[in-house]
Amino acid sequence: MTAADTTPALRCASRHSGPRDGEECGARARFEISCHARPPLVVCPQHLGPALLLTDGVLWPPELRLVR
Ligand SMILES: [Zn+2]
Repeated sequence: MTAADTTPALRCASRHSGPRDGEECGARARFEISCHARPPLVVCPQHLGPALLLTDGVLWPPELRLVR
């Protein structure tokens, strides 16, 4: 069992777009985006697109992993 198995559901870490721009989304994360030289970014489906396009360091083409 890894640390990830004992962690509660991840929350979306995106701060891009949305009605309350600048605040953390907080929705349940479904995707993990691999980033260059930084920890992966976990996001909900609504923020997957904006995060891919706007976040610094996202690998291209994107490397995604489904998280549960
Ligand atoms: Zn989100």
